[in-house]
Amino acid sequence: MRVFTEKMSAEKLDDRTSERLHRRILEISKIGRTENEGAKRMGYSEAESQAKSKVIEWMADIGMHVRKDGAGNVFGTYKGADDSKVFMAGSHIDTVPDGGHFDGAAGVLTALEIVTLWHEASYRPKYDFEVVIFSDEEGSRFSSGLTGSRAFMGMIEEAELDKYRDPFGQTFDEVIGNIGSNREQFLNAEGPAKQIAMYAEIHIEQAKQLEEKNLPVGIVSGIAGATRTKVTFHGVAGHAGSTPMTERKDALVKASEFISTLPEIAKSVSPTAVATVGKMTVSPGGVNVIPGQVELVVDARDIDEAHQSKLIQAVADHAHDIVKDSDITVDTDLTTRILPIPIDSEIIDSMEASFKRHDLLPIHLPSGAGHDAMSVGTQFPVAMLFVRSIGGISHSPEEFTHIEDLTQAVKVLKDFFENQ
Ligand SMILES: [Zn+2]
Repeated sequence: MRVFTEKMSAEKLDDRTSERLHRRILEISKIGRTENEGAKRMGYSEAESQAKSKVIEWMADIGMHVRKDGAGNVFGTYKGADDSKVFMAGSHIDTVPDGGHFDGAAGVLTALEIVTLWHEASYRPKYDFEVVIFSDEEGSRFSSGLTGSRAFMGMIEEAELDKYRDPFGQTFDEVIGNIGSNREQFLNAEGPAKQIAMYAEIHIEQAKQLEEKNLPVGIVSGIAGATRTKVTFHGVAGHAGSTPMTERKDALVKASEFISTLPEIAKSVSPTAVATVGKMTVSPGGVNVIPGQVELVVDARDIDEAHQSKLIQAVADHAHDIVKDSDITVDTDLTTRILPIPIDSEIIDSMEASFKRHDLLPIHLPSGAGHDAMSVGTQFPVAMLFVRSIGGISHSPEEFTHIEDLTQAVKVLKDFFENQ
């Protein structure tokens, strides 16, 4: 296994953007570096805060005005021609406990690079341009997610904070106190002061489609919304030795049929639909007992709201169809539904034009994972670019993206903003 530093030293750096991104990614990677060359910068930790400070220094170097809100989100503003609206781009700089050096940091540093190039060319964008670092995107602090961006958009209810405990047993108030804020300031996190004309985020793909097609960058066509359906199969528990096969009401046999045919159900809904069973409880759970009850959770996602509705219905119908004409009964309960975030077709067209001006093939990719763009996208137009991830690996020290590919993403997104 080649370690991160070896991979970085082999990178091709043929222009100043590549050179600067390389230097900055290495610099941020030293903050919270783990023994096996991974990254550990939990949301609201000293490491996350140090990484933010480093980026703030670079923002200040090119005269950006920097502020923080009550959720610890950082905003660096570069003056545009018109201050009635803002453009915004960025991501997060926290990581999972043994993460890599590109998930999040790549989005922040590429956004800053766009401004740096404008600054060098004395170019002013149409609107004020804000580079944002959202806090605790990964949610490893409170087993949540998108903490900073949801606070920014006013999407967090106070009751949610009362339930928060971090892995060290600290309450929300203790944790937020450590960054010099408090509950009230967090709940009143400034929010968008002006209309956001466009929020854009560059993120590593965390899948292999770009690598398989040998392309550096792709256009995100929509961000999937997760749904969770609890499915419970009820049979009758019995002795594994003395109950003849003809008299059994085995809940796990039906649950298995359900799971093994679920992929076909997802495929029949849309090409972007996905469905997974990752958790199942078998009761009573003895090696010599026929399963009387099975409870499982289906995580199903799609990037289109209508398809997502169809998918939820298809999952429930499938559960009922499987038990039809049998002695097993089933209950389904939709416990979570997060709406997908569509990307406007005009935004995709405009992004395609930027790709073509840079001789890049404009491939479309759905985002199965959630990103800060999801929070901002509930109210404002968003655009996202994915950058090739080697081997599709992420949330691991093995995560790697070539600097050259990030440089291509900078060029495309810069062109996109210049043509809004
Ligand atoms: Zn991320």
